[in-house]
Amino acid sequence: MGDHFAFVYSSRFADYSFGDDHPFKVQRYQLTYELIRQLGLLASDTIKIIEAPLVDEEALLSFHRADYLKTLKEFSRETTPRANFFFNLGDVENPVFPGLYDWARLGCGGTVEAARQVVRDGCRVAFNMAGGYHHAHAARASGFSYLNDAVIAINDMVGQGLRVAYVDIDAHHGDGVQEAFYHTDRVLTISLHESGEDFFPHTGFPWEMGEGKGFGYSVNIPFRAHSDDLIFEQAFRRIVLPLLDCYAPDVLVTQLGVDSLRTDPLTRLEMTTGSIELAARSFLGTGIPWVAIGGGGYDKFNVCRGWALAWAIMTGKTVGDDLPAEFRKIIRDMGMKGERLRDMPHLALPDDFSRAEQTLGKVLRTLESRLFPLFGL
Ligand SMILES: [Zn+2]
Repeated sequence: MGDHFAFVYSSRFADYSFGDDHPFKVQRYQLTYELIRQLGLLASDTIKIIEAPLVDEEALLSFHRADYLKTLKEFSRETTPRANFFFNLGDVENPVFPGLYDWARLGCGGTVEAARQVVRDGCRVAFNMAGGYHHAHAARASGFSYLNDAVIAINDMVGQGLRVAYVDIDAHHGDGVQEAFYHTDRVLTISLHESGEDFFPHTGFPWEMGEGKGFGYSVNIPFRAHSDDLIFEQAFRRIVLPLLDCYAPDVLVTQLGVDSLRTDPLTRLEMTTGSIELAARSFLGTGIPWVAIGGGGYDKFNVCRGWALAWAIMTGKTVGDDLPAEFRKIIRDMGMKGERLRDMPHLALPDDFSRAEQTLGKVLRTLESRLFPLFGL
C-alpha cells in the first residue's frame, strides 16, 4: 500500500466570530477548504477526510490549569461578555464569545486527531488547518489563542514514548509551545519569526535555548522586519534542516502560519508563497511522519492560497497557477482581488535586505557556535 493522507476538517471551524473588528476571521477555514476542494486536492483514494472531534477535556489538563479551563468554559456559556484579567480573557485581543470553549476544543481536537492519524493509523501526513494556536499558555489566553493544540497533541505523543520535533514558521514566536517543552529533550522546538524586539510576543531570541535537560532543544531564529524569501531560505537550510536531520524525531509537527507573507496586515516580513512551498517541500523531504497544523494569517486570500499550496505538496500533487473560476467568483463577491495561486517573486529593497542579512548572520553564528556542538554538528 502506498502513502495515505488525512485532511482533518469541520464545517464548524467557521461557525463562530471573534467580532467584526477583530483581525482573526474564522471564515478563512471555509475559504481554504473551498479552494482545496475546487483544485481537486481532496479527490483521491489516498486521501481520507476526517471530521475534527472535540478534544477530551481530560487531555487539556496535560498542559492547561483546571481553574483557567473552568473559567473559559463558564464565560463561553454566558451571553453577556465577561472578562478575567489574570487569564487574559475577554479583552480586545482575546474576546470571549458564545461557544468559544467548544470552538477552541474543536481546533484542538483536530490537531490531536491529526497526530492520531499519523501515529496510530500510519498516515504519511495529516493536516488540521484549524490548529497552531501557539500563544496559549497554561493559564493564560494570548494572541487569539485559548487552547494550545500543538502542546496537547505533542504531550499525547510523548506519553506514548515518542520523540517529537516542532517547527513553527508563523511570523510570531511560538512562545506557548516553547514554554511547555523548555525543560525537556523529548521535544525539539524550532521557531522562525519576526524579531520580538518590538513585536508580539516579545520573546524568541537566540539565547532562549532551553534549560536543564532541555538545554539546546529550544531553537529560535528571529528575523528583522522586511526579511524576504532569500533570508528565510538561508535560515531554513542552515539551521532547520540540519537540526531535524540530527535530532531524527519519530514525528514532525509543523505550525504553518502564513502571516509571514508580505501582504499580511499584522506583520512586517516580506516572504511570499515561495517560502511556504519551500518549507512544505523540505518537511516532506525529511521523510519523517508529519502532522501539519495551521496558524496565523490575517489576509484571507493569503491563508487559502498558502495552505492549498502546502496541502498539494503534502499529498504529492502538482497544481498550476490559475485559480478555479468558481473560486475567483467567491473571492470577488467577498470584495477581494486575485487571479493566481502563487505570489509573484518578491525581493526586499536592497537596504532592507542587507540589514536583514546582517541580523540573520549574527543569529546563525550564535546558533552554529553554541547549539551545533550539542548536536555533534
Ligand atoms: Zn502569527
